[in-house]
Amino acid sequence: MKRLVYFFFVLMALSINVAAQDTHSYANPSAVRVRHVDLDWDVLFDQKILKGTTTLTIERTSQTEPLILDTRDLNIERVETSVNGLEYTPATFTVGTSDKILGAPLTIPLPAGATRVRIQYSTSPGASGLQWLAPAQTAGKKDPFMFTQSQAIHARSWIPLQDTPAVRVTYNAHVRTPRNLLAVMSAENDAHTPRDGDYSFRMRQPIPSYLIALAVGDLRFRTLGPRTGVYAEPQMIDRAARELSDTEKMVVATERLYGAYRWGRFDILVLPPSFPFGGMENPRLTFATPTILAGDKSLVSLVAHELAHSWSGNLVTNATWRDFWLNEGFTVYLERRILEAVYGRAREEMEASLGLRELLEEMATLEDRDEILHVDLTGRDPDDGFTNVPYEKGALFLRHLEQTFGRVQFDRFLRSYFNLLAFQSITTEQFLTHLRQYLLDDNPALAARVPIDEWINNAGLPSSAPKPTSPAFARVEEQAQRWLRGEITATQIPVAKWTTQERLHFLKFVQSALEPPASAGGPADAAATQLSQTERLRLMGELDRAFQLTRSGNSEIAFQWLMMSIQDKYEPAYPRLEEFLLSVGRRKFIRPLYQELAKTPEGKERALAIYRRARPTYHPIAVTSIDQDLKWPSQ
Ligand SMILES: [Zn+2]
Repeated sequence: MKRLVYFFFVLMALSINVAAQDTHSYANPSAVRVRHVDLDWDVLFDQKILKGTTTLTIERTSQTEPLILDTRDLNIERVETSVNGLEYTPATFTVGTSDKILGAPLTIPLPAGATRVRIQYSTSPGASGLQWLAPAQTAGKKDPFMFTQSQAIHARSWIPLQDTPAVRVTYNAHVRTPRNLLAVMSAENDAHTPRDGDYSFRMRQPIPSYLIALAVGDLRFRTLGPRTGVYAEPQMIDRAARELSDTEKMVVATERLYGAYRWGRFDILVLPPSFPFGGMENPRLTFATPTILAGDKSLVSLVAHELAHSWSGNLVTNATWRDFWLNEGFTVYLERRILEAVYGRAREEMEASLGLRELLEEMATLEDRDEILHVDLTGRDPDDGFTNVPYEKGALFLRHLEQTFGRVQFDRFLRSYFNLLAFQSITTEQFLTHLRQYLLDDNPALAARVPIDEWINNAGLPSSAPKPTSPAFARVEEQAQRWLRGEITATQIPVAKWTTQERLHFLKFVQSALEPPASAGGPADAAATQLSQTERLRLMGELDRAFQLTRSGNSEIAFQWLMMSIQDKYEPAYPRLEEFLLSVGRRKFIRPLYQELAKTPEGKERALAIYRRARPTYHPIAVTSIDQDLKWPSQ
């Protein structure tokens, strides 16, 4: 009897899960569900629009309810329905009021037996998911370029569809472009297809809408390995192929850890600099920022990250954006395991230690509600959830599970997780059910050591959270201390022997020593002294002369140095700051630089002057964030 009652509650909980509404979509997939999408477009660079049709194959559990789709700024010209997929008849439709975050619902009443809906439409030039680059914004300077970025809810700005990660679709696409350009998609690509401006694609595996992706430009391809390759503009292709030459090795290492790679090929598209993110895990074709091309493979953790998404995120997917940590926390954990397998434990320790530091720094500035893994984003733009919390706190939670249950048992759990839930979209509650069933319930004594509820539902970190450390970083700190105490000169610091991660740690350590944090407890406390502005500038100048920091071509080092330069008013770096902000569009770098500048009146003026020139070259996603930060008037 007791068991039956328990069973009843489990059923109740499960049915609530299934009905859990994605608050960022108007769609009604429990009544009408899209299973397949056929796309057909002309890519019109002169008008900055896609024009064509989307045909949706639907499955209906209700014969009375209409199909409700998500749209944003689409110009819907005509809607038709079909019973057999051959003959189409015109249908009525209504586009509802547009919400600033969600866009507008497109409601289509369905006749009896309808299995397909064809929508003729065009996008708007300001579509949030598309970026149109003038030739001047590309490396080649000759041809225009366009690319999409659908995560989190931008697919609806270029495709009318059920834009929720809970709905998975297969898709075919037919794309017409200017004759000399190549189109590529998150689908089966033929790298050697004739360049005739007419391209076809097929994605046979069901994916959520945010993974549908398209790019068009003057692209070349280089093979990296049997299943791996890289696309980039001709001017970048050799550099990109050299930098990414370990990609095949990473795929092999990940398969050894978590089971077969299920997507056929893993290619990387290196985009022009205005791409707002580091990378986007579009299946079969990761999109990546050129800022990872450091020349020494030091920033390829990004490739490990996007590759890891082929398991965590693309295979097992967050069902709503409040479950985003299931995508990113798992992926950061996997990324570090891949780095450890390919580059060794010391590299993993450094990355994990930098990750923890960035998390703690950011959490010091966040409201409590944004420090929660199972964050409530109702009424907010899901892009607001893109903090370090789902990434680094999520990864720490998995690290805690690994340390508690042991690597062998935890790896077995992860493999079963990817196998049993492959090609499914799940909520945090469903993850927890799976975790209990396949790990916790068999080991109650160990399970008692991990405060699951605290990890998932509370702000901050549990007191038992792992604190990754790096012996290599401890040696870096020792050198920094000696230099700050005047025992050695900057030229005596063995920077040439250090990795990018060690250099970054050195700079961050010096940064906190120059400006000791208001609250005690930072790693640099021992070195922290009250330094005068003149003394700080002297130290900055000494570092710059010794290590050529202002001229660094490594984007992570340059970013860190420019942040310090703004804080300490180190003027010799200002021209480089301006150049950096005008040539890089990655939001992770440019947004904090503008925010830091805006902290003083002179800095704000400088920020606005640079932003006025840079804004037209940035992606809509970066522009939305920085407009808010700088209170840019054009909104
Ligand atoms: Zn990610």
